[in-house]
Amino acid sequence: MRSGVSMRKIKAVEAQDKSLERCSALEKECWELAKTNAELEDKLAEIYFTHEFFKALTGRVNVMQVSALISDGAVGILGSETACVYLFNHRESELEPKGAQGRSLSDFKQSVKLGETVIGVAIEREELTEHVDPSPDDSFLANSASWTGLQAAIPLKTQETALGVVAIATAKRNKLTPAERERFENIANMSTLALHNALLNEELEWLSVTDRLTELYDYGYFQGRLREELHRAERMDHKISLIMIDIDYFKDYNDAFGHPKGDLVLKRLAQILRDNTRDIDIIARYGGEEFAIILPETEKQTALVAAERIRMAVERTEFAGNENLPIVNKTISLGVACYPDDAKTPESLIEKTDEALYAAKWRGRNRTQSI
Ligand code: GH3
Ligand code: MG
Ligand code: MG
Repeated sequence: MRSGVSMRKIKAVEAQDKSLERCSALEKECWELAKTNAELEDKLAEIYFTHEFFKALTGRVNVMQVSALISDGAVGILGSETACVYLFNHRESELEPKGAQGRSLSDFKQSVKLGETVIGVAIEREELTEHVDPSPDDSFLANSASWTGLQAAIPLKTQETALGVVAIATAKRNKLTPAERERFENIANMSTLALHNALLNEELEWLSVTDRLTELYDYGYFQGRLREELHRAERMDHKISLIMIDIDYFKDYNDAFGHPKGDLVLKRLAQILRDNTRDIDIIARYGGEEFAIILPETEKQTALVAAERIRMAVERTEFAGNENLPIVNKTISLGVACYPDDAKTPESLIEKTDEALYAAKWRGRNRTQSI
């Protein structure tokens, strides 16, 4: 028989054990609660970020801004190192980067063909595409940079057309989880809408300043832009040159082959002008068969060289010509003047350039003349 003292001891030990057990259960619950709390906080941050992202997305109208914002959202929501939005250029059948986050735009391949890298494959297969540890050729990063980790891309497509893709790169060396895939798909769905909107806006803007036949800027845009460029040149102490072009004996061409064939010459000439100028030059259809080119930051001597290059390219071109039409060579006359050397205001710069053009005509045509 145990004594009363030892019985009390046993009971005390049992009670201690129970309270220890309860303590450790409580500790476990506490730990689980903290874990759930942290997860909830993460989820809340994600929801907050997603909400802010979508709200911002609806407020943007410019394609570059929307692309940068989508990339920002992809990095924030998916926790990737970097992201980039590529737009599909239907005419060239290639994808070009328009906005990035985590790296600068020049760090991405500037042209991706269908089937190349996750980007080209995603647009071709019309589905989320993933690639772990792509080789430099298979990576969408430029400068032969290989990538250790995952690259993934998802198409942005409306019901009718593929607009582009969102691409991400992360150091994680395994594929996206189902939850991450779902988040990526949500980003793509919401972004498509905003991007489509921005693209339509840009097209509308472009249409409002563009000549339909030649797809060059129209007279109104030219006038506004010349004013702007002159202000900028004045502020920065730069020079600006202006070239004006008129087709030689174009009336005769129309009389001989008809107006529609004349229109084709105008279209072809517009392409020659685009091919022989820099991206920063502003080419406009000034009137019926007259064109004007603003050359920012350009001395008169350089503009004269550019004008001669254009003149010779036109002279070499064989216009029209098919089974019913003879091949025809056309020539143009060009006038060149420069701000501030020849004129200080937009009006007088146009006047001086026109004077030079008139002199080129008067001296026999198919020539470049400066003031
Ligand atoms: P030059 O300039 O060498 O003095 O002779 P030109 O015959 O070209 O004379 P001008 O520049 O005055 O002629 C303008 C002609 O351009 C008249 C018209 O037949 C033609 N033209 C103007 N706009 C268009 C157009 O949109 N389409 C076509 N097909 N022809 C146009
Ligand atoms: Mg004319
Ligand atoms: Mg003419």
